[in-house]
Formats: sequence, C-alpha cells, structure tokens
Amino acid sequence: MIKFLDLQKINLTHQQEIEERLINTFRSGWFLLGTEVKKFEENLKKYTGVNHAIGVANGLDALRLIFRAYLELGLMKKGDEVLVPANTYIASLLALSDNGLVPVLVEPDLDNYNIDISKIEPKITSKTKAILIVHLYGQVVFSEKLNAIANKYNLKIVEDNAQAIGASWNKIKTGNLGDAAGFSFYPGKNLGALGDAGAVTCKNDDLAKTIRAIANYGSNLKYINIYQGLNSRLDEIHAAVLDVKLKYIDDENQVRREIAGRYLKEIKNDKLILPIEPVDKTEHVWHLFVIRTKERESLQTYLSENGIQTLIHYPIPPHKQEAYEDLNHLNLPITETIHQEVLSLPISPVMTAEEVSKVIEIINEYV
Ligand SMILES: *Cc1c(COP(=O)(O)O)cnc(C)c1O
Repeated sequence: MIKFLDLQKINLTHQQEIEERLINTFRSGWFLLGTEVKKFEENLKKYTGVNHAIGVANGLDALRLIFRAYLELGLMKKGDEVLVPANTYIASLLALSDNGLVPVLVEPDLDNYNIDISKIEPKITSKTKAILIVHLYGQVVFSEKLNAIANKYNLKIVEDNAQAIGASWNKIKTGNLGDAAGFSFYPGKNLGALGDAGAVTCKNDDLAKTIRAIANYGSNLKYINIYQGLNSRLDEIHAAVLDVKLKYIDDENQVRREIAGRYLKEIKNDKLILPIEPVDKTEHVWHLFVIRTKERESLQTYLSENGIQTLIHYPIPPHKQEAYEDLNHLNLPITETIHQEVLSLPISPVMTAEEVSKVIEIINEYV
C-alpha cells in the first residue's frame, strides 16, 4: 500500500542524529526553556531571516498568542475584525474568536485555493485590524497589492504558516512576509516534531517580548506577572528534534517539488483538475498535493482499492461547522465547491520514484 504519509520512515531518515539529541536532552535533566529551545529559535530565526523566533506549544497557540499580544499592547480590542480566508483549517478562525476578535471570511481564488486578494478591500470596515493570510497546502499567498492594501488601511498582516515552512515570495521566506507568523510542527507538517509543537516569528521587539511573556504565565521574570498569561512553551525534546530536522527541510521540500512536478506533468485524466504551477516569484513547498474532481468519492474508493491512500483537506468548511453557528448562514460558493471536490494525493520526502509512478499510472487509468 502507498501510504498518504509515512511518518515513521520520514523520522527514521534522521534516526541517529535525532536519537543522540534526545538522549542528550534526557540526560541533561533540563526540559523547558533551556539550550535546545534557544538553539532551535536561533536557527529558525536565521532560516526565515526574521528578527524574532519564539518556540511555543503548538500552531494554534502560535496564532492565538500573536493576537493576544496585539490585544495586550492595545493595538487591537475585542470586537475588532480580522480578514481570513474562508477556505482554511478551522484553527485560523479559532485563534481569532478565542481572543474575542471577529473572523471576517473572504472567498478564495479557485485557481490556487488561497485568499482572493481582489476580494479583500470590499470587506474592510473601520473595525478591521488585520489580514490573516494562510499559505494553504504549502503555497505562499502574497503580493505587492496585498502589502499596499495593508499599508493603505493600516492593517497588520499575520501569516498562518502552519503548512508552508520553506516557501517564499520574491526570495523572502514565509514567516518573514508580514508582521508576525504562526508555525505548526505537528508531526505531519513539513517540519514535524514528535508531538505538538509550534513557533511564532515576528519583526517587532515589543510584540516578541509580549508573546514570550504571555506564553510563560504572563511573566518575563520569574514570579513577576504582567499579563494573565497562558502556559504555552516548546519542550526541549521537541526543540532538539526540530533543530536536527530543520537542517534538512530545504532538501525535503525539494523532493516534494520534484514529486509535484511529476504529478503535474504526467497525470492526464479529464475527470480531475490539477493544482496550478507556482506563479511568478513564489516557491511552493507542497505540504499537500490537492486535486479537484466532481467524482471525489468514487475516485477515492478506486484509489484505495488500488492501494493508494488519500485524504481530504478539508471536508467541511469552518463556516458550515456547528462550532461557528453564527457563520452557518454565509453563502461562500467557491469555498464550498473546494470542500466538496478536493482530494489530497500522497506526497512526502520519502516517497520513492516507483511509488510516484504507480500513483500516476493508477490515476491515469481511472474512468
Ligand atoms: C496544522 C494547522 C494549524 C494548527 O497547528 P497545530 O500545531 O495543530 O495546533 C493551524 N493552521 C493551519 C492552516 C494548519 O494546517
């Protein structure tokens, strides 16, 4: 069977190095806010080219903490609006509503599944404070026009970079495109820990300091509490593993690009729509290779019967979830079409050329 993602194989690629770092951490007796986290933060900072990197407990917290810090700094207040793509994983919205901010959903572009930049401006009101862009499926969404809109209306740009570490626009890495970014190191992401882990990157010194404090009980100095904070720290063992894997992320993303390149060139079947090739200035990291088809159920069954595992990212859009009853009435046809038709094919740095050929062959035979 061709697995959707073989996590065991991915991590075993670096077995020796990871085990050494894990043993060292275990033997050090120091498990939080120590040297492993410092090293990883330093390397992530260098990698993205941004001023600050802060390890946190997971990707959702990374985003929650950014907005919480904007509230504490007085730059946003409860009831303010944040524009967010309607086609995203629900965590993007949770980070806003958890802070009393109002998610304002913007339809995506049917070509690239990311927020449609031309639809942003009509949604801006006097309460709009930020645009939360999501580099969905590993594809960067950014442009001069987006930046100009943010400048014109004095909006923060926050990146949900959970799926796109290593992607870039105009040679600038995701995580360094806006004011702040949230990363997820959930095991199945392109850079995955051995459990939950995440990070924030940002440009502004005060924002970084505030996020660090909120993530540590609202304290910068032990037992002195400035904010009613949370506990959201990156564990030393995860930082150690991530610091090893970060060295290989560019090579691993390159393998994903090569697989995507083959899929784009060699899959030929009228029943499905392939993702677009990355456009000018953008480097895609193919966290997911997502096709669309009106026959999703039958294609998925056919692939499964032929030994190919696929997944759906995602079956129900946030505005149709029970959790967001107040958004259930919204009419977002592009988002809904995407959720009804998408199917994610296997793609990973450990997929062999034979496996890729098999996927292509089986799909091309689907009638
Ligand atoms: C994975 C993911 C998150 C949340 O990250 P966790 O580490 O699972 O909390 C947020 N946004 C998007 C787009 C994601 O894919």
